[in-house]
Amino acid sequence: MDYLSVWKSNGIEYQEHVLGATLSTFRAGGEVDLVVYPNDQTQLQIVIDSLKGVKYHLFGLGSNTLVSDSGLKVVVCTKRMQGIEKEGDDLVCFAGEAMPKVAKYALESGLTGAEWMTGIPGSIGGAIKMNAGAYGHGMADIVVKVLTLWDGLARWVEAKDLKFGYRTSSLKGIVVKAVLRLSPKDPAAIASTMEQIALTRARTQPHEPSLGSVFKAYQGRPAAPYIQAAGMKGVKIGQAKVSGLHCNFIVNQGGATARDYLRLADSVQQKVYEQAGIRLEREFVLATDE
Ligand SMILES: Cc1cc2nc3c(=O)[nH]c(=O)nc-3n(C[C@H](O)[C@H](O)[C@H](O)COP(=O)(O)OP(=O)(O)OC[C@H]3O[C@@H](n4cnc5c(N)ncnc54)[C@H](O)[C@@H]3O)c2cc1C
Repeated sequence: MDYLSVWKSNGIEYQEHVLGATLSTFRAGGEVDLVVYPNDQTQLQIVIDSLKGVKYHLFGLGSNTLVSDSGLKVVVCTKRMQGIEKEGDDLVCFAGEAMPKVAKYALESGLTGAEWMTGIPGSIGGAIKMNAGAYGHGMADIVVKVLTLWDGLARWVEAKDLKFGYRTSSLKGIVVKAVLRLSPKDPAAIASTMEQIALTRARTQPHEPSLGSVFKAYQGRPAAPYIQAAGMKGVKIGQAKVSGLHCNFIVNQGGATARDYLRLADSVQQKVYEQAGIRLEREFVLATDE
């Protein structure tokens, strides 16, 4: 039985001919032939079993992923795998939960440790893979263990075995859910921190579509000052522009292509290399079948 029939007979939702622009927060990219949306572990297992031997791309909320202009064949998107449960001071979060929602849930539970997720438009699955973080905190600080689907098997992986590094992890396979360890705190203090973070983000980060930081910090130093010093602030290629507000963001001014983004990112990297002699490393992920 081909995979479409398997999904249909198991009531698993999928879409054909999806605009890449709807899957990535940069709002660009070619057509994706098929996107499948498992909504729990059982559906995910069926989807992955049905795709044996088929190349697919894994997406959460697409906030760190650029979709190639030539499109993609198959995407497995975990954003509909939702659910948060409180177990003592832990939150058990499914992969598709949005980070700001987890921060809000933690606030409502009087638990601290997730405030930094405020305003990050990613999912828990993507955040674990990338070891997302902000303002001196990150996933590595709170993940206890992760239920993954890898090589056809579901297994719990302890945080120490995920080898979290700066915006990296050694995660193999797909995050189904994760246990995050938080601790009790006065909700008013948590709310105040979240408010400060939201204000700081609104003041310092552009509102146009982007993928967040284009480049990782270099040896602990933010990439933006290097980019500014290289004279790249405000530079445009096509409709992609190095933000004037935060030069480590490339924003879509309307109608940018993935190629615009990549050419501009390459040009920034080259100019920084010429100016400062350092090679900035990409933080975003490029999804391509080529
Ligand atoms: C405005 C803006 C602000 C941002 N601010 C920050 C910030 O402060 N700090 C920060 O770290 N990042 C930031 N980001 C980047 C991004 O939001 C994070 O990296 C986020 O955690 C990615 O989650 P996602 O679900 O969108 O991942 P996607 O872009 O969908 O995927 C990213 C990677 O994770 C993998 N992945 C996705 N889901 C799963 C899963 N279920 N299991 C295994 N792997 C999976 C994908 O295959 C891909 O390799 C920002 C982005 C934007 C647009």
